[in-house]
Amino acid sequence: MTDPRALMREGSVTEIDAPEESCQIRACSCPTCYLCGAVGILLYENLTDRLFGSPGIWNFKLCANPSCGLIWLDPMPIESDLGKAYRNYYTHTQPQASTQQSGIERTKALLTRAYEFAWRFTPVYSERQKLELMYLDGLPPGRVLEIGCGDGQGLARLRARGWDVQGQEVDEEAATHARTAFGVPVFRGRLDQAGFRDEEFDAVVMSHVIEHVHDPLALLRESRRVLKLGGDLVSITPNTQGWGHARFRASWNGLDRPRHLFLFSRNTLELMARACDFQHVKTWTTAARSVWTVGGSLRIQRGEPVRGSWALITRAVRQAALHATAVMARRRDPEAGDECVLIASR
Ligand SMILES: [Zn+2]
Repeated sequence: MTDPRALMREGSVTEIDAPEESCQIRACSCPTCYLCGAVGILLYENLTDRLFGSPGIWNFKLCANPSCGLIWLDPMPIESDLGKAYRNYYTHTQPQASTQQSGIERTKALLTRAYEFAWRFTPVYSERQKLELMYLDGLPPGRVLEIGCGDGQGLARLRARGWDVQGQEVDEEAATHARTAFGVPVFRGRLDQAGFRDEEFDAVVMSHVIEHVHDPLALLRESRRVLKLGGDLVSITPNTQGWGHARFRASWNGLDRPRHLFLFSRNTLELMARACDFQHVKTWTTAARSVWTVGGSLRIQRGEPVRGSWALITRAVRQAALHATAVMARRRDPEAGDECVLIASR
């Protein structure tokens, strides 16, 4: 397995010629697969960050090995410059309620509430509730670590179900919000700096984290180290084999360049979990949150915010229709969900 950092140490990579203090994101070339070492086939080229405007032009490679299928960024931002890709990113915190909402914002909020209410009468709603509890709803509560816990809402939900919660988060603002708004304990920093004890947790969960890190295998190994024997790992990530990627291709928001470094399928998640000695490895796909995929992908496709009430309503109707299509696609094909779920035990 090829670690991009190892490639850099060996001097076999090129870096964009820019000083560290430049806003340009320095990157290394990654021609071969991180998991199996096979050569990468060019999948998409010359992509820019159309959601958050970070600098750089990016390509994605697809592993040529049919029994692997990993997708990755090439060139890939070097670890010390990755923060530059997040300068305009979501802060992970909840937006403050505005006392002076515009007519468009009120319309949008009303449409969203009506839409969410309508979905309550479908099986998607119960699946989404399970997702929001990271599929721990059937387990007796114990001690849980959420890696990349964001604003702490997920941990607050688990605490309300009796779990003893602990978060880890690299984003200072999000970690502060989690502590002050929800009172959940959060280690602010990298997971390997947190000093969690061996076998400290009954469960380790992470949602949309594994695609952001330079060394996903190291993340899984550290998760396994802190899990009790028989404890569960739950990881959720975009699905490269899902309906959204097939529909939107280079505009699929699962690519989220240059923040998503590696992209996975059920197959590659299983390969990694087994490589890290996890037991009882299970994966499946879900369309319960495909509305996010559709919304983000439409924004990338258009490349500009929607302006005006009529355009907003048209876009909302289109998003709703595509969301329903995504849900139906998952009903027809179990591989077509826009997110992959991995559950494995130590
Ligand atoms: Zn591969």
